[in-house]
Amino acid sequence: MGATLALSACGGSDSSGGSDGGNGGGDKVEGKIGVILPDTKSSVRWESADKPALEAAFKAAGVKYDVQNAEGDADKMQTIADGMITDGVTVLAIVNLDSDSGAAIEEKAKSQGVKTIDYDRLTLGGSADVYISYDNSKVGALQGEGLEKCLGDKDANIVYLNGSPTDNNATLFSQGAHSILDKNAKYKKVGEQAVPDWDNEQAVTIFEQLYTKADGKIDGVYAANDGLAGAVISILDKNGQAGKVPVTGQDATVEGLQNILKGDQCMTIQKSATGQAKALAETAIAMVKGDKPETTGTVEDETGKREVPAILLDPVSITKDNVKAVIDSGDMKASDLCTGD
Ligand code: BGC
Repeated sequence: MGATLALSACGGSDSSGGSDGGNGGGDKVEGKIGVILPDTKSSVRWESADKPALEAAFKAAGVKYDVQNAEGDADKMQTIADGMITDGVTVLAIVNLDSDSGAAIEEKAKSQGVKTIDYDRLTLGGSADVYISYDNSKVGALQGEGLEKCLGDKDANIVYLNGSPTDNNATLFSQGAHSILDKNAKYKKVGEQAVPDWDNEQAVTIFEQLYTKADGKIDGVYAANDGLAGAVISILDKNGQAGKVPVTGQDATVEGLQNILKGDQCMTIQKSATGQAKALAETAIAMVKGDKPETTGTVEDETGKREVPAILLDPVSITKDNVKAVIDSGDMKASDLCTGD
């Protein structure tokens, strides 16, 4: 069944979509904000959702900014950070590729009087002044609940495809999902593996191996994000199982939402990029001005033995029934989804 067929969301208008954000709407703010995104292979979110949302938020606030992508290379992230600081960035936000390289970047920035922010991923043992993310344990729990709902009340063999072992979020997502699914006596884990760097391509091979090892006797798959879900679905499809085995996801990407509408994916998680970008812009601007940024609480960094001031936003679970909520939130246009197959 084509994506367009099931798209009740396609009837909506496009007017609420996109994040244009305007140009220089706010008062001029001194200083400059740098943001370094991690890669292009772990999720399309960084380039297709976060980057435009961040640029729109900074433009609207009238602050100078520089948003770059480290393309999966930790050395490159350090080089970009050095360049940004030379260019006058006064607040630097990073999505670390692993905690050690992230901590080194933050330490160096700090020694040069530059404040730092952990964007989305907490840098364990780092020195960021603020952490801005979603409640990632809740993300995992919502994924677990979503899979449970799709599986219904029956015995089920479950495979877990986790995110990168170097990403603290991946640990929280998996723990959150297990906290729900392990409680159900009808479910049995028949495989679990982490995908290095969240690499969506490697995930295809990894899942195929898990599938073969389980003799194809899989009733549900916990996939940590939409990219990994896409990899899983490709193998299920190859084996005539797509749409029969529920698969979770995360990021509410175009691919993920289309897979949901087709019936190949059970659910995804929307972590609005517009909302997260706005929180970063407000925080960074307060820091540029020398004000104490507003936070909602703290998170514990056990490695660094410190409580990190944090803003944790609320994730939303998306199934076939409420795909339209993503469009209504302004994160995406209906036409982005409807141009599918
Ligand atoms: C983010 C997810 C993303 C993943 C891969 C995680 O840290 O929270 O939204 O899908 O990284 O980039």
